[in-house]
Amino acid sequence: RYYLERIERLDPRLRAYITVTPDQALSAAREADRRLAAGEDLPLLGLPVAIKDNICTRGIRTTCASKILENFVPPYDATVVERLKAAGAVLLGKTNLDEFAMGSSTENSTFFPTRNPWDLERVPGGSSGGSAAAVAADLCAASLGSDTGGSIRQPASFCGVVGFKPTYGRVSRYGLVAFASSLDQIGPLTRTVADAALVLQVIGGPDERDSTSWPEPQPDYLEALKAPVEGMKLGLVREAFGEGLSEEVRSVVEEAFRALKDLGCELREVSLPHMEYALAAYYIIAPAEASSNLARYDGVKYGFRAEGRDLLEMYKKTRSEGFGPEVKRRIMLGTYALSAGYYEAFYRKASQVRTLIRRDFEVAFREVDLLLLPASPTPAFRLGEKTDDPLQMYLSDIYTIPVNLAGLPGLSLPVGLAEGKLPVGLQVIGPQLADDRVLALAHHLE
Ligand code: GLN
Repeated sequence: RYYLERIERLDPRLRAYITVTPDQALSAAREADRRLAAGEDLPLLGLPVAIKDNICTRGIRTTCASKILENFVPPYDATVVERLKAAGAVLLGKTNLDEFAMGSSTENSTFFPTRNPWDLERVPGGSSGGSAAAVAADLCAASLGSDTGGSIRQPASFCGVVGFKPTYGRVSRYGLVAFASSLDQIGPLTRTVADAALVLQVIGGPDERDSTSWPEPQPDYLEALKAPVEGMKLGLVREAFGEGLSEEVRSVVEEAFRALKDLGCELREVSLPHMEYALAAYYIIAPAEASSNLARYDGVKYGFRAEGRDLLEMYKKTRSEGFGPEVKRRIMLGTYALSAGYYEAFYRKASQVRTLIRRDFEVAFREVDLLLLPASPTPAFRLGEKTDDPLQMYLSDIYTIPVNLAGLPGLSLPVGLAEGKLPVGLQVIGPQLADDRVLALAHHLE
């Protein structure tokens, strides 16, 4: 009731939610009460959570903030949703995002933009902007987002909450509407690192329904938070501290470095020489995969269908009316990059660059235990500030995208306020499967 009351009062201005499900939430909460009274002990019993609206929820519409799925009601739960429910969590509703998770500000939602709770004239980041704003404004206790190129970490940074993208494969993608399958990963947005560990413990682990999920069981993340961080070697990524990084973010992040030294960590500079090509490679690979994944929305199998004289006209009208401008731009980019004659020059080249970036990380992790860089070059920007310039918008993810290309775990931790006003996130990156180490360091710094 506490959360539903806050949503009713505050969400008309913030617009973090696309769908709120008060009746289901109250009955799930009553059920949780009964189980508590009966002495049941479940990790998330009664915990009210929100889910990004590109994660399938049985019987609750899942729109991807797109007209093409506006009325799509999945007949099944994503694995993560199934596991949240089994752990006793209470679903409050579905949160806003950039259409099909393509964007960095939640302004690409076909319904409405979400606002940043710290300053209503600013964006919450994206694409998981609704999930980040909901946690920041206390409209849920925790939420789930998805991160293909930064969509958990960048909004977490803009909204001053913890956002964690686990190692690729740690969390099942079954039931996550695919954007770029080799990059997509679900993760928690929470108020504390311990909360993130708790939620990850529940949603993560092997799943037969996702062939890319890691077969080995997860470590005990909460236990791992206790590991000492003294003597840890931390690498500051040189390429991330050059031009392009705003002074206000730099000074907050540098203060966090001093705090880390006080914790007994050893800081040194490291280089990721191919990082400068990450954005270019990503904007070939992600659209290429998206153009293939989004081919299924043809008016026959899912959601919206436009009228047409024949099948071809129906396809064309459905897709031109159903998708928004950014999604169309990605489909065109991706289709072009995969076309005969261009494939070698674009997609294959980008895949090779991806390998170089992965190797850069491997080399760096021979020297250090974890890497540090800002989550985003600037704090939250104003609504409308970048909507006319896609390239400016894409630059917002320059520090997060390399991590997806390499499949590594990355966490954004709020470490201070830029000029005393807007939150700044420090990004902690670990080697593959070192999710527990990332969480431990962030926990000690928090
Ligand atoms: N902003 C990036 C994009 O638009 C990343 C999105 C994401 O992580 N889902 O593709």
